Amino acid sequence: MISVSEAQTFVLETLTPLSPVDRTLEEALGCVAAEQIIATEPVPGFKNSSMDGYALRAVDTSEGSVRLRVIGTVLAGDAPDQQLHEGEAVRIMTGAPIPDGADAVCMIEETTVDPDGQTVLIVRTIDVGQSVRQPGEDIAVGQLLIEVGRELGGALIGVLASQGCASVSVHPRPRVGVMSTGDELAGPGSSLSFGQIRDANRPMLLALLRQSGFTPVDLGIASDDEQEITKRLQLGVDECDAVIATGGVSVGDVDFVKTVLAEICAGKARWMQVAMRPGKPFAFGTAGERGTPIFGLPGNPVSTRVSFEMFVRPALRRLAGHRVLDRPTVNMVLDCPMARKPDGKLHLVHVTSRFHDDGRMHIEVASRQGSHLLSAVAGANALAMIPDGDGFAPGNVARAMILDHETGD
Ligand code: AMP
Ligand code: MG
Repeated sequence: MISVSEAQTFVLETLTPLSPVDRTLEEALGCVAAEQIIATEPVPGFKNSSMDGYALRAVDTSEGSVRLRVIGTVLAGDAPDQQLHEGEAVRIMTGAPIPDGADAVCMIEETTVDPDGQTVLIVRTIDVGQSVRQPGEDIAVGQLLIEVGRELGGALIGVLASQGCASVSVHPRPRVGVMSTGDELAGPGSSLSFGQIRDANRPMLLALLRQSGFTPVDLGIASDDEQEITKRLQLGVDECDAVIATGGVSVGDVDFVKTVLAEICAGKARWMQVAMRPGKPFAFGTAGERGTPIFGLPGNPVSTRVSFEMFVRPALRRLAGHRVLDRPTVNMVLDCPMARKPDGKLHLVHVTSRFHDDGRMHIEVASRQGSHLLSAVAGANALAMIPDGDGFAPGNVARAMILDHETGD
């Protein structure tokens, strides 16, 4: 057996981010920047009002109460030609350029306008610059807006748009092929003959991939046949940036995925027994000219899920250019016992956790564990890591990987 970290290192050390591509801002959401973006336009580009109100000369209000002559109106989008002189004001809307001569804005709520609109009464002192947005206040020309490796979230897309960018160079989302293997597997729709089971892994992985921001590609179900497994895996290598197969990596008579992987990867593959439970058998290799990674995960659905989290997701994040590969792992307080027996393995236990009033995450329930009990773990939102030994008692603290911030109800 090898340690989890040795297996993780074996996978990660072969991988580098996918070559950059240009993507429109809409397509770039969730991708990682492959170029740094330096601001070329100031934002705002000109002095403008942050309020609906009256542009004026602050000095005119120094007495605290003054009636000013309204010489015009400026709307957002106007290019004002007014020149403000002593005793004058311009009605101005939010975002409209400040007219020459004005140096402050009094918000409309603090003014009283004559019924004829000719004059406005200002009843308090206005400071220079009040309610005026200065050029470059948000973004100055030359400012570093996005560094290489930054994930483009919605607000950063907004920043790029505010610069007039239409596209950006990013690492593409990895396209990831998913194949199930097993003579016993059936899709939905048909009735099951005795001994058959539904293929749960492929739809689960396709969904988990999408949830993590990758592009899933369905490679279907292969029977336990070396040629068919080879054909489908090869298709995945040709069409995708990474391939995941489930089933057929253990020591059973028809566990051919590990053998096929060794052939396709021409020596660049390894079949591992990882010191973790579930998910002990694991195969990984790289194939083809592009060194496409192929993951061979165990067939039991809970093992598949755990192996995906421990090995596949971090690797795909590297392909996608992310700097942080792992999900957050935090100390959580156990509200339930988490007993185990020494067996030389790290136990990964699906748990339901929640923030408590003490400001700490608490593990409230450990799911019924069993690598085939998918429904028992489906509602879990974290994966507790219980090191080799006798486990923990309530009140102890355990490290856990947060799988989902939003579930736990
Ligand atoms: P294997 O790793 O091929 O020996 O499979 C281990 C167990 O997982 C067996 O009970 C399989 O029937 C089951 N299994 C394999 N693939 C899937 C799948 N795609 N969906 C659900 N169960 C599966
Ligand atoms: Mg099988």
